[in-house]
Amino acid sequence: MKKLYSPKIVKEIIDLYDFKFKKSLGQNFLIDKNFVDKIIDIADIENENVLEIGPGIGTITYEMAKTAKKVLAVEIDENLIPILQQNLEEFSNVKVINQDILKVDLKKLIAEEFSNQSFKVVSNLPYYITTPIIELLITSNFPCQDMTIMVQKEVAQRMVASANDKDYSSLSVFVKFYSDAKILVNLPKTVFMPQPKIDSSILNLKLRIYDEKVDQKKLFNLVRAGFNKRRKTILNSLSDVASKEDLKIAFEKTGLRENLRAENLSLDDFIKLADIL
Ligand code: SAM
Repeated sequence: MKKLYSPKIVKEIIDLYDFKFKKSLGQNFLIDKNFVDKIIDIADIENENVLEIGPGIGTITYEMAKTAKKVLAVEIDENLIPILQQNLEEFSNVKVINQDILKVDLKKLIAEEFSNQSFKVVSNLPYYITTPIIELLITSNFPCQDMTIMVQKEVAQRMVASANDKDYSSLSVFVKFYSDAKILVNLPKTVFMPQPKIDSSILNLKLRIYDEKVDQKKLFNLVRAGFNKRRKTILNSLSDVASKEDLKIAFEKTGLRENLRAENLSLDDFIKLADIL
């Protein structure tokens, strides 16, 4: 039984392999058993296929491998691969792949490794790819309905915010359209090595079946335009994507006042506008 979450063991491994943390890859390793257990509990991975993004030295991977059906761990840093191989050698249900998660052919990988069966995503995400990876996973139609991720607290708050909340943004609308997202645990920065500057949260996203009739491209063009000029009224901010005459007609039909701002509009309001415009 390895204790990869123990700060003493992490230090020993780092020294043994002469590993240097790379800030540019968002390398902050989890060093607290409580939070390793929490993320796995929330993800509920017993007998499930799991895609882990950025396994690091294999701390969460090791604990998941004990009960998951299979863990596919994609790690960009080649210096971590020998460490992962050594740390996970006792498991035959773990596959480590040295790739950039944003560049690898995920569709092919999922077909090969999970035979296109359903899987869950579990990750202590490198902060610099949080938004692109979420967008990719949410919109790709993979057989994945459930993601449990650790992200910076402020990003988590933006993801779950609703209209009129101070953290409400285009990301909030995007996440709401595709999923039911909840913040389940907040973590202090002290449970990572090296210690980051800000706290984190564990978030669970249950992907939902959305209305296929909604023109997603149009919807998110509107949402982006609205939040790009969030201080302006929607009549002004949305005039980048539609004429003022059309906007006025759309506001009248939806009952929305033209002096509202994007931050006052719910997902449903944006959907109604996209439908009419
Ligand atoms: N899972 C480990 C843990 O919790 O201790 C490490 C988490 S650390 C926050 C993020 C990990 O993602 C690092 O191991 C880093 O090298 C890896 N990573 C960064 N960018 C990546 C990318 N584009 N594709 C795959 N892995 C990446």
